[in-house]
Amino acid sequence: MSALDIEKLAAQGAELPDKLNGAEQLLFLSLRNLYSAFRSGKIPKDIAKIEKTRIYREYEQNSLNLKCWMSGLEKERKLQHMTQEIKACDCEICVKYLRILEGIE
Ligand SMILES: [Zn+2]
Repeated sequence: MSALDIEKLAAQGAELPDKLNGAEQLLFLSLRNLYSAFRSGKIPKDIAKIEKTRIYREYEQNSLNLKCWMSGLEKERKLQHMTQEIKACDCEICVKYLRILEGIE
């Protein structure tokens, strides 16, 4: 679901859609809350605009963080089969690699 689709649903005050990732959920809930606060007169339009920009900026950063995290998990999964071989080797490179992997270095 695109960010624009998420915003349309949030503006309508819809229920939280299924299958959104963490960044998208936060975007939806933040925008739904923002639209609600604006429409009820709790915040003026200029403040709502500023807050919407900030919400989108965080959404972009959260999306990027999520992608990096998923990419890291995928790399870890791909390297997992090598861990036993690396643990069995006592060369300097493998020992250092393991120490970094285990957070010792
Ligand atoms: Zn080695």
